[in-house]
Amino acid sequence: MASDPDCPFCRKLADPAGWAAEDVVWEFPHSVAVLGPWQFYTGYCVLVCREHATELHHLDGSTRVAYLKEMATLAEAIGGCFRPHKLNYELLGNQVPHLHWHLFPRSIDDPDRLRPVWFALEKADADPAEKTRLETARAHRTMIAALLRERLRADKAPGEPATP
Ligand SMILES: [Zn+2]
Repeated sequence: MASDPDCPFCRKLADPAGWAAEDVVWEFPHSVAVLGPWQFYTGYCVLVCREHATELHHLDGSTRVAYLKEMATLAEAIGGCFRPHKLNYELLGNQVPHLHWHLFPRSIDDPDRLRPVWFALEKADADPAEKTRLETARAHRTMIAALLRERLRADKAPGEPATP
């Protein structure tokens, strides 16, 4: 499987302590689901591909399909747990060019709901109060991760739950 020693996600994937265990939601065969920092978007996860690739079309066909299915499985679990008004699916890689989906559940009462989350997150860079607001979940992070694991287990998702 392709890996790049200079890539921060490849290093995290190779290190058993790469992500805090309580933040790892699910170990899929082709990706790892990690609870993201911005839990104002309750259930926000990042789904990191196990293989180092910068573009979806760089993955071989079966890996690509499996990775996309895992993303949809995670999205279904987030949707089922938190009933967002809309899910945002983002595969950017401008900062870390290693395939990773951002799955942002958006709520109807989000004042910025018509815009991508990145405008608010950019403001948070310069404004500690805004940063705190966007990091603060409506439930505790461990509860959010536990709900997602429970849902994925019930949905018989491929792979295994993390064991924090
Ligand atoms: Zn990588």
